[in-house]
Amino acid sequence: MRILVVEDDAPLAEVLRRGLTEDGYATDVVAKLVDARNAVEVNDYDLVVLDRGLPDGDGRDLCAEMRESGRHTPVLMLTARDGLGDKVEGLDAGADDYLTKPFDYPELTARIRALLRRPAEAQTPILSHGTLEMDPAARRVSRSSITIPLTAREFALLEVLLRQPESTHARTDLLERVWDANYDGLSNVVDVHVANLRRKLDLPGMDDPIETIRGVGYRLRPVNA
Ligand code: CA
Repeated sequence: MRILVVEDDAPLAEVLRRGLTEDGYATDVVAKLVDARNAVEVNDYDLVVLDRGLPDGDGRDLCAEMRESGRHTPVLMLTARDGLGDKVEGLDAGADDYLTKPFDYPELTARIRALLRRPAEAQTPILSHGTLEMDPAARRVSRSSITIPLTAREFALLEVLLRQPESTHARTDLLERVWDANYDGLSNVVDVHVANLRRKLDLPGMDDPIETIRGVGYRLRPVNA
């Protein structure tokens, strides 16, 4: 899951970047409307956290532009103002939810989870493939009902595979969806995490659920094949 945070308050932006990254979201942060426009143009986000009061304009305008151009990415709007008018304006511009500053971080993540759950997750809360099961809302993974503890990154990686079980995912695609646009760490980070994931999912008598597609990337091993 990939999130764009548009927030010009640097300390708050840093708290959000750190918290969301720890929670396993690939998180990009920008401080200006012009950079946010560019980011939503170039990247495919699952959610946008959007401050209204930005140095070069009102976040509400970006939300309205996204809706006009047919982008339905959930938008959680942040507003420093507490007036009912601001909330109504935000929702009128196409925001899915709003949060008034100051807010507690758990409140923000609860709203984010709720927004990401609908509509796809609301209909199929449990993702499964063969003996593998994932409950994204409870952040729980199991094989044949044996719970397997995963790190936030491993969880996010497996979630991408489980949401498109038939697709082969290129390393660059996984890197982009599970890490973020500015990731400049080890280039084999995807392979390292897939190896860890395989080790944890390897239970006695069960096959490796992840297939390496040589020269391309990874996918889930087809069931009954
Ligand atoms: Ca602001």
